[in-house]
Amino acid sequence: MGAPERVPFNRPPLVGREAEYISDALGRRELSGDGHYTRACHAWLARRLRVPEALLTHSCTAALEMAALLVNFAPGDEVILPSFTFVSTANAVVLRGAVPVFVDVSPETLNIDAAAIEAAITPRTRAIIVVHYAGVCADMDAIDVIAARHGLRVIEDAAQALLSTYRGRPAGALGALGCFSFHATKNVVSGEGGALTITDPALAERAHIVWEKGTNRRQFLAGMVDKYTWVDIGSSFLPGELMAAFLLAQLEGAEGIVAERLKTWNAYHAAFQALEREGRLRRPVVPPECGHNGHLYYLLLPTAAERDRLMAALRADGIQAPFHYIPLHSAPAGMKYGRTPAPLAVTDDVSARLLRLPLFADIGRDVDRVIERVRAHLGH
Ligand SMILES: *Cc1c(COP(=O)(O)O)cnc(C)c1O
Repeated sequence: MGAPERVPFNRPPLVGREAEYISDALGRRELSGDGHYTRACHAWLARRLRVPEALLTHSCTAALEMAALLVNFAPGDEVILPSFTFVSTANAVVLRGAVPVFVDVSPETLNIDAAAIEAAITPRTRAIIVVHYAGVCADMDAIDVIAARHGLRVIEDAAQALLSTYRGRPAGALGALGCFSFHATKNVVSGEGGALTITDPALAERAHIVWEKGTNRRQFLAGMVDKYTWVDIGSSFLPGELMAAFLLAQLEGAEGIVAERLKTWNAYHAAFQALEREGRLRRPVVPPECGHNGHLYYLLLPTAAERDRLMAALRADGIQAPFHYIPLHSAPAGMKYGRTPAPLAVTDDVSARLLRLPLFADIGRDVDRVIERVRAHLGH
């Protein structure tokens, strides 16, 4: 009997029209950014996420950097964010000379804890960056109340949350600015890629300037000014047309990708109910106000040792099941550049016990094998 096929953690989806659109873009001889396909992606995002403006970027990292530029983070400013996130959420703050202030997450959703935000606010606090972990939106009602009371901006790191909703409103439309990723590990992909959504119309004009290297190219193209010149700081945040062409095909297939992922997510969730009841693991919690996009399925094992044992056993079976996040407050750069006003007990605890299971659009029957192996290793 041959060894069973490996089950990777992720395999980027192809939905059908990617090659056709790239070939069409080649035919148009329009390879730099802001062409036909970029504008089509902008229109899709604005319509589907119900935001006035959306701009493609090279990555979510770039979208976060744009957001930090647009809200004018400056040296000495403090920005509150979870420690349980990817490095880009914090780097965007540090690159402006501001200080990321790391706070704890809620043990249910692993999203930023509203009470912890309130406790970390100082006269220097300027903004809150929420992360919608696993495509489940953060506790926006409570966060909006805190932000309004203290005059803080809310920025969404919605890297994992394309087509997720909070009380029926799309992620990316819940703060002043939203940052998305189309990295190959996300639901909808373009290899590397991202987008910035702009819900505060006061930021829209400057967003185009920052996006186009600090120039007024957009006003020039619209005939509003007769010279195209340097008017503000900025960078080259726009991707080329080939990436946008690939991405448009993916966006058009986004609902199908999410439906496929939710099928797998629901299969895992049903399969592990009995193990949860016996206290052998804990499954993800999705609050009733959140509509999620099946981005990620994780298990919380009772102890770090049990997590490490299960991860190693699955690896020996050829199943790739990684952990998630060395908490940023405990990472070398996090200690150097950030501030952690209170111990992050939940973050330290869950990051040591969390295991992510393979989940991608065409996982097929491999999901049954993952379920069977997890059950077997946990004595079922
Ligand atoms: C993936 C991810 C990012 C980074 O996205 P890139 O497009 O690779 O820059 C940022 N934040 C979170 C929460 C992510 O999951």
